[in-house]
Amino acid sequence: MRIVLVGPPGAGKGTQAAYLAENLSIPHISTGDLFRANISQGTELGKQAKAYMDAGRLVPDEVTIGMAEDRLLQPDAARGFLLDGFPRNVGQAQALDAFLAKTKVSLDAVLDLEVPEEEVVKRIAGRRLCRNDGSHVFHVEYNPPADDNVCDTCGGELYQRSDDTEEAVRIRLEEYHSKTEPIIDYYKQQGLVRTIPALGKVAEVTQRAMDALQREA
Ligand code: ADP
Repeated sequence: MRIVLVGPPGAGKGTQAAYLAENLSIPHISTGDLFRANISQGTELGKQAKAYMDAGRLVPDEVTIGMAEDRLLQPDAARGFLLDGFPRNVGQAQALDAFLAKTKVSLDAVLDLEVPEEEVVKRIAGRRLCRNDGSHVFHVEYNPPADDNVCDTCGGELYQRSDDTEEAVRIRLEEYHSKTEPIIDYYKQQGLVRTIPALGKVAEVTQRAMDALQREA
């Protein structure tokens, strides 16, 4: 299956993507994780992306689209993928359609995770990520690790993202409303969107998403 996951920052995309990708045996491709890996490795691409990310702004399409396409060309993505954080504006959605059309494939579904804005802010403020794997996500209140700064899954060090500050979160939400939300209409025109209420336990949301993938859009 070829799936795109959409939702505001803090909707739980990364958390859900990890479970869904595992259930469906497809790779989880997160452009946010790819950028963070480039930043920690000190690559040129990481240097270009960092200032935008820290400010909560979208990284320019010239940088982002090429990086996403390179990842989609890896052999593990040939039979399907779960995209998390890409596309994030209509230009990227069009570029993705054109890219897939070249190999005569298309998307199967777009999952839209819906969360009230107050919840998003609470989730992000308490979020902690593992340095080893961006899909190992914890929350100081909702999903606390057994040991304060240690990942329960792999023992890695937990940290708070540099763009999880109040100011950057406000800008990320603005970017989401003005640039990313329009892709939901774009995909509605293709009949691909399935809306998933994303409040509740992690496993319940995963189940809703799996159920939504079984039925027609
Ligand atoms: P979140 O969904 O919580 O905002 P992500 O890890 O998906 O977090 O993205 C973090 C940041 O990485 C974004 O605020 C943006 O700066 C950059 N980024 C990720 N994906 C894209 C994209 N498709 N286009 C432009 N910028 C992106």
